[in-house]
Amino acid sequence: MSKAGPPRHDPVPIGEVAEPPFVRLPDPKRIFAERAGRFAALASNHQLASYLLFLAALCEAQHQAQDGTPEPELPSADAIARAREFGMPPLDRNRFTASAEFDATFGRLLGLAQTIEKPAAAAAAFARVANADAAMRDAMIRNVLADSIPVDQLADHVYAAAAMQLHFARLTARLDDKQLVPVGDGACPACAAPPVSSMVIGWPRAHGTRFCACSLCGTLWNYVRIKCTICASTAGVSYREIDGGPATVKAETCDVCHGYAKMLYQATDMAVEPMADDMASLGLDMLVGEAGWSRLAPNPFVLTG
Ligand SMILES: [Zn+2]
Ligand SMILES: [Zn+2]
Repeated sequence: MSKAGPPRHDPVPIGEVAEPPFVRLPDPKRIFAERAGRFAALASNHQLASYLLFLAALCEAQHQAQDGTPEPELPSADAIARAREFGMPPLDRNRFTASAEFDATFGRLLGLAQTIEKPAAAAAAFARVANADAAMRDAMIRNVLADSIPVDQLADHVYAAAAMQLHFARLTARLDDKQLVPVGDGACPACAAPPVSSMVIGWPRAHGTRFCACSLCGTLWNYVRIKCTICASTAGVSYREIDGGPATVKAETCDVCHGYAKMLYQATDMAVEPMADDMASLGLDMLVGEAGWSRLAPNPFVLTG
C-alpha cells in the first residue's frame, strides 16, 4: 500500500483538471475498520506500540458496535433545510442530546472494549468509565463535544469520544452531501467540530487538493492550501517536519494564532489516516511544541495536554 518518496507539490497531473467535491461524507462501514488497520500498521516498531494497538482494537470495536445497535435518528428534513438556510451545520454537535440509540451504542462499545488488551492507564480508565453513573457519562460527553477534556482525565474520555465518533459518523453518513454548505473556517460543515488534521489527497480529479478531516464525524471538506485550518490566516503559515521522519506528515504552523495542525500527504501514501497518523507522529508535536506553537487541533486519542 505505502509508497516511499517525498511529498509531491505538483498538484495536478498533466491533462487532468482538479475539481474537488466540497465534502466527502464518512462511510461508517469503512472508516473505523480502516482506522483500526492504520493504527495497527503504525504500531510496528513504534515507541507507543501497546497504546497504538489498543487504539486499533478500540476502532475495531467501533466498527463492530454498529451491528445490532439502532441507527441514530436524523433531524427532520425541515430542520436540516433551516440549518442550511442560516449557514449552520445540520448536526451541530453543540445541540447534541443523548438518546436511547446513543446510550445503546455507548453501552455496546463499552461491552466490546471490555476484552481489549489495554495498557495500565487505559485499563484503569476503563474501570472508572464502566462504573460511571449517568451524570458522570454525561459530563464526559459534554467535555468531548466542547474539546475541553481535563488534562488529568484524558484516558477516561477516550471511550466517550469513541462512542461520539461512531454516533456522529452514522448520522453524517445519511446526509445529502449536495445540501451541505460552508459554516465557517475551522468548522465541519456537517457537525461544526474542528478538524483533527488535513490531507493533501490523491483522488482522481482532485489530486493535490487539500481536505480538512473532522475530529468528530469523519467528514472531509475541501480547504485551500497554505491557510491555517484553525484561524484561517493565510499570513504567517509555514511547515515543519522531522529530519529523516516520514515524508507523509508535516506540521502547519501559524504565527497569527500561534497554533499548529498536522498536514498529511495522502497523495504520497494512500494509507495515511487523519486521526491515526496524527496520533502516531507525536515526535513532531514535541518538536513544534518546543519551538513555541500550541496544539489546537483536537484528537481525543492523544493523551498529552
Ligand atoms: Zn463533523
Ligand atoms: Zn492560525
